[in-house]
Amino acid sequence: MRVEDVTVRFAGLTALDGVGFTVEPGSIHALIGPNGAGKSTCFNVLSGVCRPASGSVHFGDHELTRLRPHRIAALGVARTFQNIVMTAGTVADNLMLGRHVLTRAGFAATALRLPSAVREQRVHRERAREIAELVGLGRLFDTPVALLSYGDRKRVEMARALCLEPRLLLLDEPVAGMNSAERQRTAETVRAVREELGLSVLIVEHDMGLVMRLADAVTVLDFGRRIADGAPDEVRHDPAVLRAYLGT
Ligand code: ADP
Ligand code: MG
Repeated sequence: MRVEDVTVRFAGLTALDGVGFTVEPGSIHALIGPNGAGKSTCFNVLSGVCRPASGSVHFGDHELTRLRPHRIAALGVARTFQNIVMTAGTVADNLMLGRHVLTRAGFAATALRLPSAVREQRVHRERAREIAELVGLGRLFDTPVALLSYGDRKRVEMARALCLEPRLLLLDEPVAGMNSAERQRTAETVRAVREELGLSVLIVEHDMGLVMRLADAVTVLDFGRRIADGAPDEVRHDPAVLRAYLGT
């Protein structure tokens, strides 16, 4: 994914100011920065929720800049949200919602349980189960999400996005609110997902230690501007990054 010179303004506030970076195929790329730096706004641009005032986003040969969210998802870019809201249904139900965009049989055929639609649903369910196992939710596949721990609900959110079979997964603060054991487990899951599915991951994360262990490349935002970009070890020692994080 290639992000070039993206600017977003909200009534007088410049949330992103000419931001650019490239996510290499198969990489885990972190987008970090202090609160209000513009990270979620950037995700909103990449997933089509927010239109930039200027700049462009390309994914392979496709320009995503003015596409609607479902078109972007269909081209292979799936995202999770920072604040999860799901409360209804089982893990399986929530993952099947993620598969919905890939369903070929129409709603009527599915509702009438025509043989072709039933077969298709079975295939989707098997794939949803594989993805649940990959993120560590295999045992909980038929459990109502309302009964899950916070950490497991965050996993459902990741699995739902993976059910779109993306080539790029956008994760907005996947370990926020988790304890250190859950954080570690989620980092391992992200790595496993990348290895098993061969996709790229762009991750917004506050936990610097986790970012440094997990990411192949890091882009740092501060007040809507890109202040650093490179390998974790370069970025970690960058004076501008230290200033932004330590406020010195
Ligand atoms: P981050 O995710 O890095 O914490 P955000 O992208 O959420 O930062 O926000 C960047 C800036 O844009 C903040 O100052 C925030 O208050 C502002 N902002 C974000 N979304 C909106 C919006 N829909 N309307 C107005 N201001 C917004
Ligand atoms: Mg945010």
